[in-house]
Amino acid sequence: MIHHHPDNRTLTEHAAGTLALAPSICVTLHLNVCDQCRRAHRQLQDLGSALFERQAEASVPDRLLETVLARIDEEQAPLSHRPPPAAQGSPHLVQRLIQGDFKDLDWRHIGSSVQVCHLRTGDRENEFALYHIRAGGSIPHHTHRGNELTLVLEGGFSDEEGHYRAGDFIQRDASHRHSPTATLDRDCICVGVLDAPVRFTDWRFRPVNPFLRLQAR
Ligand SMILES: [Zn+2]
Repeated sequence: MIHHHPDNRTLTEHAAGTLALAPSICVTLHLNVCDQCRRAHRQLQDLGSALFERQAEASVPDRLLETVLARIDEEQAPLSHRPPPAAQGSPHLVQRLIQGDFKDLDWRHIGSSVQVCHLRTGDRENEFALYHIRAGGSIPHHTHRGNELTLVLEGGFSDEEGHYRAGDFIQRDASHRHSPTATLDRDCICVGVLDAPVRFTDWRFRPVNPFLRLQAR
């Protein structure tokens, strides 16, 4: 059962197509598993289309239309020929990004129980990463210099504000300080999207704050 959803603004931006790529992927992962948000999203898109239809018509030169249609064809072709990789059980969208299995990724340690792997989405403004928190392990206490979106893929975690399970979508910003801790029964894998580096408040990690850079690519 999913209890945590994107806020209205995020959902509206996604429906309007104005959300950046990395956060969009995060929202799409949630929409794939949340009927409630999918319904709301459809209504927002219908509303957008209705508003769009009321706009005055503008003529589009034939050449421009042909260029756009050709570009859509180009973009679809490589995806449909790509064989599905073998990250068993993970959503298709994540499988396409990781191009293999979780264990083959270039994981880096943050402390003893957390590993992070930054993935390339093509979004140069937002970092898109997978976090693997060992059962019972924690991400060190931190706050944010911008926005953080989290989507739970497997397992679950808690922080100062709640408990989260697979499919839950969590939004945090500079007003939050937290230390996500995985449940004791199994490891937790999450997607995390950042538009600015976190700021560690845990004294053991504070010295690295000035060196943290967004790994957006
Ligand atoms: Zn939802």
